[in-house]
Amino acid sequence: MAIATVNPTTGETLKTFDALNAGEIEDHLIRAEQAFEQYRDTSFAYRAERLLKAADLLDADRDSIARTMTTEMGKTLAAARAEAAKCAKTMRWYATHAEELLADEQPDPADVQDSGAARAVVRYRPMGTVLAVMPWNFPLWQVVRFAAPALMAGNTGLLKHASNVPQTALYLDELFRRAGFPEGCFQTLLIGSGAVEEILRDPRVAAATLTGSEGAGRSVASIAGDEVKKTVLELGGSDPFLVLPSADLDKAARVGVTARVQNNGQSCIAAKRFIVHTDVYDAFAERFTAGMAALAVGDPMDENTDIGPLSSKQGRSDLEELVDDAVHRGARALCGGRRPPAHSSGWFYEPTVLDGITREMRIHHEEAFGPVATLYRVADLDEAVKVANDTPFGLSSNAWTHDADEQARVARDLQAGGVYFNGMTASHPGLPFGGAKRSGYGRELSGHGIREFCNMTTVWYG
Ligand code: NAP
Repeated sequence: MAIATVNPTTGETLKTFDALNAGEIEDHLIRAEQAFEQYRDTSFAYRAERLLKAADLLDADRDSIARTMTTEMGKTLAAARAEAAKCAKTMRWYATHAEELLADEQPDPADVQDSGAARAVVRYRPMGTVLAVMPWNFPLWQVVRFAAPALMAGNTGLLKHASNVPQTALYLDELFRRAGFPEGCFQTLLIGSGAVEEILRDPRVAAATLTGSEGAGRSVASIAGDEVKKTVLELGGSDPFLVLPSADLDKAARVGVTARVQNNGQSCIAAKRFIVHTDVYDAFAERFTAGMAALAVGDPMDENTDIGPLSSKQGRSDLEELVDDAVHRGARALCGGRRPPAHSSGWFYEPTVLDGITREMRIHHEEAFGPVATLYRVADLDEAVKVANDTPFGLSSNAWTHDADEQARVARDLQAGGVYFNGMTASHPGLPFGGAKRSGYGRELSGHGIREFCNMTTVWYG
């Protein structure tokens, strides 16, 4: 895949970039190693001062970097601005909390004595240089939720960003440099995915984190496994959205639309499968379909647009194939199911609701990465849980019910890294984020996220 900015609204290639050659990659690795040797010994205050500065710079740049993101991958300008603001908030959160999150832990004194020690502590030390392989869908956020904790922990980072967001990738490199992080602490590598293996095998790289598709995750994890290097994987999702009889249907339908179409439908934690109790199915389906059909599809730079284009031509064909397969096998499009006739250029797709989904359809098992929702009618909670878990993925989940027994059952039985009641899944710097099953492993954000790339060391004094 060429490293280039191609505007998904027009299909026009705006700028292309050369990938780094072997010598240039080597220079980056040398800088990362040298930077780590110094940076690992800096204080939390030193790191926090720089991360707070990065947050201020990002706030000041919000409009311009939002325009870059919208140009490169098609999210609405409003969504891009909100993403930049969330990144600044997360930088401030880690700048403020990292020292406390990584403070030495005191084991139980009885255990310390029993081990024969005069005293013992558990210490979180940085691991080294972490390679981050990142996707285009939240081109700032995915990187910042790795970089903010990694830099606060004393690690150094190498970013291999998706090939279609090179300008956002270069902006991040420059942002951390402008904020005063020493040279080599955070570097963007403009490389294709074929160059990842050699870098990951290099002894100067300690670990890797990947956010992206299952195939990319499998490849990076197997190479890292071969090298016995730690990985965190944040992969795809096909989150269920359960609607049970006690739900506030108006609110569930309204939030359900947002949960499905956020980021033009290209979010790992978007609600994708709407699993609705038969008693409220018709009422919910009517409200939800009306909400989806009313969305304004158009130029993502226009403040009145709800849904912009998909990020790539390939992404749109993949989505079309899933919908066509389902319709061919008997699903019914309650709205959408085609390209909007008003947009002849760009990679637009109409918000779509499909019902009559069966297990034979690909969309039942695969991730629909675009504004396409599937509806399932279920007889009771048992069937709802069964359908919800009938997927290879396990990222997050949503359930709309005010019944305490139902909530307890759902929180116990849904196979996912998150269960959100009467609301939609949204990440927050203070809450752990990550998946189960084929959605990956490890956690980002919160104290759990910052400790993923630390060497937890038992220090024992005889
Ligand atoms: P992708 O094709 O897997 O790309 C993600 C990153 O991996 C890109 O930098 C890509 O580089 C690189 N890559 C691809 N194949 C690789 C390989 N074999 N070895 C090493 N690197 C490789 O995913 P995408 O289409 O950009 O992103 C969408 C996917 O990400 C969806 O499945 C979505 O659910 C998932 N996602 C998950 C989360 C989460 O937190 N769980 C968040 C956001 C997105 P190139 O661009 O150069 O190919």
